[in-house]
Amino acid sequence: MKVRVLGCSGGIGGQDLRTTSFLVDDDILIDAGTGLTDLSLDELAAINHVFITHSHLDHIVALPLMIDSVARLRDTPVTVHASASTIDMIRAYIFNGVIWPDFSEIAIRRCKILTYEAIHVGQQVRLGRRNIVAVPAVHTVPAVGYHLDSGDASLVFTGDTTVNDLLWPIINQIANLRYLIIESSFSNRDEALARRSRHLCPRLLFAELDKMTVTAEIFVTHLKPGQIDIITAELSEPEERLPPGILRKDQVFEF
Ligand SMILES: [Zn+2]
Ligand SMILES: [Zn+2]
Repeated sequence: MKVRVLGCSGGIGGQDLRTTSFLVDDDILIDAGTGLTDLSLDELAAINHVFITHSHLDHIVALPLMIDSVARLRDTPVTVHASASTIDMIRAYIFNGVIWPDFSEIAIRRCKILTYEAIHVGQQVRLGRRNIVAVPAVHTVPAVGYHLDSGDASLVFTGDTTVNDLLWPIINQIANLRYLIIESSFSNRDEALARRSRHLCPRLLFAELDKMTVTAEIFVTHLKPGQIDIITAELSEPEERLPPGILRKDQVFEF
């Protein structure tokens, strides 16, 4: 599997800051933040499956535009996989005929443009040799992360989450784990805000990582613009720890 980071910022502001979106091989997308808007039309049209972590705008904002742009270029629907409650929210508030057309009801040459597949935590979606499993997240709205397993190795992306005791026993069972992408949206001085908005800061992140009993290369994502320097400094403060990497736009993972 090849995962290309299209966007991994907690906001926008300049060419390097795009919100969350990962392209898996050529045909799968994890979240549809503003990073998606950098793909060419051909690349957009090749995406068959979109896995959404949660309904927040920074993770779905480019989805309606993508669906519209590729509608006439495809002969199979784009399948959006998400929890049932996330699908309900996307249908009610985005593809509702007011903000954007309900593309699940529109067909071109008798082909539906968009279909939804509800998933739940622990459910495996197998696409060829590739396996994608939703893992639990704790956020202000229903949310999941995703475990991507190529058969040889695994990558876990937590999505937006705060302290999450349900996640670690699952991660600790992944024998072939190679990469963990976990968020730290705020700096330590905003710990109260991080807790309230159900995110992490470096102090909370390290306490979470202490629950991990398997080893993996760790990358931190979703840093809020304007806080990148301070969060990065705080992540390298503990002398007893190897500092985690900071996830970069255009970074590629092959596993
Ligand atoms: Zn969120
Ligand atoms: Zn977010």
